[in-house]
Amino acid sequence: MQNITEIEDLIKLISKLPGLGPKSAKRIVLKLINNRNELIKPMAKALAEVYKNISRCKICGTLKPTSVDCNYNNCKIIEKKYDKICVVENISDQWSIESSSIYKGYFHILGGTISSAGHRKEDLLINSLVERVNKDNIEEVILATSATVEGQTTAYYIQDSLKKTNVKITKLAQGLPVGGEIENLDDGTLFSAFKNRSKLNSNSG
Ligand SMILES: [Zn+2]
Repeated sequence: MQNITEIEDLIKLISKLPGLGPKSAKRIVLKLINNRNELIKPMAKALAEVYKNISRCKICGTLKPTSVDCNYNNCKIIEKKYDKICVVENISDQWSIESSSIYKGYFHILGGTISSAGHRKEDLLINSLVERVNKDNIEEVILATSATVEGQTTAYYIQDSLKKTNVKITKLAQGLPVGGEIENLDDGTLFSAFKNRSKLNSNSG
């Protein structure tokens, strides 16, 4: 292979994407180069627009147009008022749950788990979850973290953080396979995990 810096850099970047190694990255880059106008040009534009216009809400953690400002009392992305918040690790988990139509309510996206690399408790939007519960008339918080050690540690920490709020806290049913990550579950498993969720605290609510 020739050493062309631009191409090597692009291959390195693409091989950082989930599920892709250097070999598939090379194939992708060749495909791009062979389709300059159909792929490279619109893709560069789309990437620039996403970079400029889309960001994560600093309160609920979901994706939103950067220009929309969310605040504790009014997460402006969601107009309908709900009384439940489903707490997930990542946006991909939110997307899986949404597309299964099992759950109608707010989401709160932590952005990882407590012990996952580089994530400290403070980074995980747990304080803003407590604020939302207090200010948004929330009746139930559903913990939908994965069935991994990190996911369960995080769930436990959240439960502890919510102790003073008196909100009802539930956890997805044990039907989750051990090590199961929400985004990889099929709709049937998700459905029974939601339906049979168990209450974790004895608070009213
Ligand atoms: Zn928000």
